[in-house]
Amino acid sequence: MAFEGLTERLQNAMKKLRGKGKISEADLRDTMREIRLALLEADVNFDVVKDFVKTVRERAVGSKVLEGLNPAQQIVKIVDEELTKTMGETDAPLNKSPKIPTIIMMVGLQGAGKTTTAGKLANRLKTEENARPLMIAADVYRPAAIDQLVTVGKQIDVPVFEMGTDTDPVEIVRQGLAKAAADHNDYVFIDTAGRLQIDEQLMDELARIKALAHPNEIMLVVDAMTGQNAVATAEGFDSKLDVTGVILTKLDGDTRGGAALSIRAVTGKPIKFVGEGEKMADLDVFHPDRMASRILG
Ligand code: GDP
Repeated sequence: MAFEGLTERLQNAMKKLRGKGKISEADLRDTMREIRLALLEADVNFDVVKDFVKTVRERAVGSKVLEGLNPAQQIVKIVDEELTKTMGETDAPLNKSPKIPTIIMMVGLQGAGKTTTAGKLANRLKTEENARPLMIAADVYRPAAIDQLVTVGKQIDVPVFEMGTDTDPVEIVRQGLAKAAADHNDYVFIDTAGRLQIDEQLMDELARIKALAHPNEIMLVVDAMTGQNAVATAEGFDSKLDVTGVILTKLDGDTRGGAALSIRAVTGKPIKFVGEGEKMADLDVFHPDRMASRILG
């Protein structure tokens, strides 16, 4: 990840305050205007930017930053804290079932990274907890999708349950869950179909799978590089399925940061993990505070 443009602009906005013993109202106004522009240019959601700027300003004025010592430093601190809050404040751990298996349903648009990310997360659980996951191939519209999941499964040595493309996905999931129960798998990943855009038929199918499987986690996978479209996608999926968590993929290729900074504030749903590359190891827990520090540079 490199939100260089955003980092540079935020740093520049606040640099001007440095060295000033006292900051005037006008200085603060200028700084806030530049922060606002920097965030908008990074493709952060308009309302999120508005709220962010308002809060930082109010805190700066309220805490009498302008009259205190090191005003520049204090404003940097407020911006850091508010960026952290905007992205969810604290880490959001994986929802786990009290009894096995924990069922994780992966949803998202085609190409967002569902299949790859299911593999990454299964691999992570294997390494961290010695887990024994099963992955169910429930995307019956693209034969290549099943092959891809099988390939990922082989790569990380995780079994894949598949029934080809001729069976109803809900039935595949039913049988896959029965298999997981018989084999005592502790995690089940359901790799669902995606489309290029949200459509009613797909949402109905996903809702039927959800109703059958009662997943502990409905993990929405979105491509960070699509910026505000990722945010709109998240709102669309969330309104139909009530997702429980978000995984932001392709952060390695995202130069702006708009999705990372907007999704939590817009949807209220936590970003739980981020994908930062194509390899199975390229999945990290999302830490709002560390991301804020990275953005501030
Ligand atoms: P799906 O259609 O949602 O299942 O998406 P795939 O899992 O097939 O991923 C689509 C493409 O995105 C593949 O080429 C993946 O290797 C790539 N991809 C997935 N996650 C990441 C990531 O975090 N970073 C990068 N650079 N590529 C990713």
